[in-house]
Amino acid sequence: MKIMPNRMDRGFYMFQNELEEKALSVLRSGWYVLGKEVTSFEEEFATYTGAKYCVGLASGLDALWIAFRLLGIGAGDEVIVQGNTYIASVMGITINGATPVFAEPDEFFGMDSAEIERKITPNTKAVLVTHLYGMASRMDEIVAICKKHNLKLVEDCAQSHGACFHGKMTGTFGDVGCFSFYPSKNLGAFGDAGAVVVNDEGLANDFKVFRNYGSEKRYYNKVVGANSRLDELQAGLLRVRLSHLNELTAEKCAIAARYDKELHNPLIKLPKVAPGATCVWHQYVIRCERRDELMEYLNSKEIGTIIHYPIPPHLSEAYRYLGHSEGFLPVTEKLAKTVLSIPMYNGMTEDEQTYVIDAVNSFV
Ligand SMILES: *Cc1c(COP(=O)(O)O)cnc(C)c1O
Repeated sequence: MKIMPNRMDRGFYMFQNELEEKALSVLRSGWYVLGKEVTSFEEEFATYTGAKYCVGLASGLDALWIAFRLLGIGAGDEVIVQGNTYIASVMGITINGATPVFAEPDEFFGMDSAEIERKITPNTKAVLVTHLYGMASRMDEIVAICKKHNLKLVEDCAQSHGACFHGKMTGTFGDVGCFSFYPSKNLGAFGDAGAVVVNDEGLANDFKVFRNYGSEKRYYNKVVGANSRLDELQAGLLRVRLSHLNELTAEKCAIAARYDKELHNPLIKLPKVAPGATCVWHQYVIRCERRDELMEYLNSKEIGTIIHYPIPPHLSEAYRYLGHSEGFLPVTEKLAKTVLSIPMYNGMTEDEQTYVIDAVNSFV
């Protein structure tokens, strides 16, 4: 049986009729960028997360860098970010000329609040938390530290649509919650798309102005902005998917529950969710000291797996200028050598799950 790490086609066929009807209605409407679908999606996604406002943007990276820009963070400022995140989180900081200060993650792959305290300097202006793999980070302590030190708090929720800490949704703990709707994400569009959620009306308005060349009134430009608009087709399709997001999340949780229960190979560590947190299983990430052999073994059984991520941002060529070298973040670097994401997607059949479970359990 051939199993790919992800099957985005399955996610389409699940709601094919609804998606095709929506696409046709947008195509026939004659209005394609920033319109009724975008406004409706923004209202619906704000309601879903429990935030007051949502502003649609062109991508998750745009959500991040525009967030730091509008919070006034730039050259000379430091932002604390966990070392084991996707590199886009870091780019959101450095595009503005600010400096990323890397912190080690906790045992749940999340931001470790004790590390934040250790990394604070007089130049620290903000903390960026990534809810990696769909697991909410432990936000109570993080929020308290940010308040105590008067730091801005931005959340990278590109992998955590719907994940909660103590019943509150990720994206709503700090100043800005940044979302990506890249097709492989838990709430995926059919192209690039992103959004922010915020509770401050003025800040929401700043995002709306910035995304459209800094213009509120046509041809009157208040600030030097960007073109980061969400289009009607993606917004319409996202509305269809959002209306099913709870079922989609429940399906992923059921697959994860089977993995938790039935994977029992002493060479493999299973993921743990922090107390008080929920996980929406963007990825199911196991750890193995002989990770590369395991990957090869699964590959020989036609099971595709992915490493999220093989090179931590502080060691990537793009960030060589920061001057970090191997050994700077031992926990993060160890994760990069041992993590493996096994197949986890909506529409994964029970037979496919069983095949993956048997294969992982048979690795010796
Ligand atoms: C996908 C992702 C992003 C970037 O989102 P894009 O929409 O691809 O720009 C940022 N951070 C994390 C953690 C991601 O997984």
